[in-house]
Amino acid sequence: MTSINGDFFEANVSSRIPATITISPEGYSLHSGENQLRSGRVEDFTVSERIGNTARRLQWIDGALFETTENDALDSVLRLHPKAIRGGMAHRLESNWSIALGSVAFVGIVIFSLFKWGIPAAAHNIASRLPVTAHELVSTGALKSLDQFIFSPTALNTNTQSDVQDSFASMIETLDGTEFNYRLHFRKMHGMPNAMALPSGEIIVSDAFVELASKEELEAVLLHELGHVEERHGMEQVINASAVSVIISTALGNLGGVNELVAGVPVFLLQSSYSRKNESAADAFAFNQMARAGIDPIHFATVIRKLGTTNQHDSDSDDTTSYLSSHPGTEQRAQRAMEASRRFNSTR
Ligand SMILES: [Zn+2]
Repeated sequence: MTSINGDFFEANVSSRIPATITISPEGYSLHSGENQLRSGRVEDFTVSERIGNTARRLQWIDGALFETTENDALDSVLRLHPKAIRGGMAHRLESNWSIALGSVAFVGIVIFSLFKWGIPAAAHNIASRLPVTAHELVSTGALKSLDQFIFSPTALNTNTQSDVQDSFASMIETLDGTEFNYRLHFRKMHGMPNAMALPSGEIIVSDAFVELASKEELEAVLLHELGHVEERHGMEQVINASAVSVIISTALGNLGGVNELVAGVPVFLLQSSYSRKNESAADAFAFNQMARAGIDPIHFATVIRKLGTTNQHDSDSDDTTSYLSSHPGTEQRAQRAMEASRRFNSTR
């Protein structure tokens, strides 16, 4: 038998009566001094949740209340009478730090998964369904911006340019038809060997890259860039970044950020790098197309290693986004090219 002290309030009466409730397996009895106020079964009243050390309320169906701060005593007696407990879960969760921390971690994992997998998967899906005109639309002005801020006109002679254009045309022929209107542009990029693709199908190669690479090596990298376009990686990234920005802007209550984002698409295309997954996909695309065109994928390994070495030398002196920094894991990619080369040679 346990006695708990508190205050009793009759239904519709605001004055408090100091009282003591005694709870036993047979039922309860409520006293104020010598006067018994009520008695009955434990099921006759409900008990409010325990929230920290705030006062608890025992409430009868007629509206009468008993209020007490003797929470521990109340809990120990209620444990014997679980029918009286209502929603004690909130307190148990609150008083259990491991569960509280676990909940925070769980919410974190859900948000992380949304950004890490949910949005990218949706972006991939949407990008692959959008028509080519949409891909051209997001690329509008990108080359112009690049010319204005980063690139300078090519210094390659016209013979070299037309040789590379011929290579480019024959690489496009290896595709099983395409919806894209491909064009190849030559530019100087601060002396850096670099190649990039806009979602529209505009491929840009730097003078330094043309000078560094053999014909087959150039073709390998052009096919890699064609892979990014064919598999719509550029648009995927734009959608991905937009979704992330919109979610963050909305969460911060700043919808103005969305307009800025749309205006910043061309700049975004220049600054961002593809995910490793998309790089691997573009590599696999290149190996496959090289094999179809009768070019040994080994050339991809040699060019990627050349680019790796060149960019290591230049990395301190130039802040231009390098081919290497946007294409991580050089040696691993070279190894995959070597494997593709072995397969290529074993089937000949
Ligand atoms: Zn790439």
